[in-house]
Amino acid sequence: MGGMSGDLFAKVRGYDSYAFRRELEMRDLLPYFRTLQGPPAAVPMMDGAPRVNLGSSNYLGLSGDPRLTEAANLAAQRYGTSVNGSRLMNGTTELHLRVEAAVADWFGEEDALVFGSGYTTNLGVIGALVGEGDVAVCDAGDHASILDGAALARGRLLPFRHNRMDRVEALLRRAAQADGGILVVVDTVYSMQGDLSDIVGVTGLSRRYGARLLVDEAHAVGVLGPDGQGVAALACLADAVDLRMGTFSKALGGGGGFVTGPADVIDFLRVQSRAFMFTAAAPPGAIGAALAGMEIARAAEGEERRVRLAANTARLRAALAELGFGVGPVPVSANEVEVQTPILRVPAPDDLTAARMWRLLYDQGVYVNVALHPAVPKGQAQLRVSVMATHTEEHLERVVDAFTVVARKLAPELPADLATSR
Ligand code: PMP
Repeated sequence: MGGMSGDLFAKVRGYDSYAFRRELEMRDLLPYFRTLQGPPAAVPMMDGAPRVNLGSSNYLGLSGDPRLTEAANLAAQRYGTSVNGSRLMNGTTELHLRVEAAVADWFGEEDALVFGSGYTTNLGVIGALVGEGDVAVCDAGDHASILDGAALARGRLLPFRHNRMDRVEALLRRAAQADGGILVVVDTVYSMQGDLSDIVGVTGLSRRYGARLLVDEAHAVGVLGPDGQGVAALACLADAVDLRMGTFSKALGGGGGFVTGPADVIDFLRVQSRAFMFTAAAPPGAIGAALAGMEIARAAEGEERRVRLAANTARLRAALAELGFGVGPVPVSANEVEVQTPILRVPAPDDLTAARMWRLLYDQGVYVNVALHPAVPKGQAQLRVSVMATHTEEHLERVVDAFTVVARKLAPELPADLATSR
């Protein structure tokens, strides 16, 4: 006798975060799905008012730059607004080949492959490489596309606690005793916390245990390292990394993702990676803009923008710390140079207070991102403040004034030890 199955939609009604979202909506505190009325510039129009943009990955300010807009327009005129097909079939334009050659040249690798997005890049690379009997050793703080890629792969996902090299070693020691291959995957810059991977530790351990290493440089490409090549290059460890991936959708102002490395591995992915083959290629406009953005990022102008970005971030970090916010992460020193990612984390005592902090800032013309559970572990609500090279001193002053109001108005809710707690 067949019983009644459960209602698939029952979970919708019992969804915890959904109820909380409704509550925020009712109190006009919902920080999500806000509407932009122009490019994500330093001060875009959002919901009818100009707001200083501390909530994008447009780190160099290239999205909205007239040179990228023109490149996107030209690409669309020449190759169409959509390629209407897979790279494998009718979706490879000259532009896609040009951008792959440019990526390989920039990173000094043999070859590169361009995907529809950074998300599908991780899905496609990990999915194709980590086969039955293999393992993917991933930082628990890795981007969702990495963890999803590992979950989807036929091999097993072995997660380790964020940046804990002792855990990596324990997992690798065990995995190395089995027959399967091992892929270690880390973000070089963690997108929510803004901290760096222990690249020295992870390259050393991968090598010692015969594992292959894939690093996600999404937030480092164009932002850190020589010519904006990212953290592996900055640490002079590019040769110790097997595969590097990144995206055009952040500092480079375009769209699409890429992976670069040895020619034979890239060629294998070209015909084995499902997230590469079974989806339409990135639209020409997105690739045209990426090529223009990459050219600027690699040139002297890119370096000027990186210097400005680091200075802006340092300036804002110091001002927020002075106001008593427990702003993280602590910048690290590499080769006597202070490495500053453009992502600042401002912890909040709880989800509701985080939303109230966001609203106070928004009302004063400042837009930041808010990470609530389940995007971050319970009790670790935070504002994610991402700085741009094109923020001026006047913009930053406006931001500091807005945070001053938050500190004053919410002082009773912000624990006294907030400044030192994280
Ligand atoms: N990796 C990391 C670390 C990211 O932060 C992101 C985007 N948030 C991606 C990959 C995915 O890139 P895209 O947005 O181009 O899909």
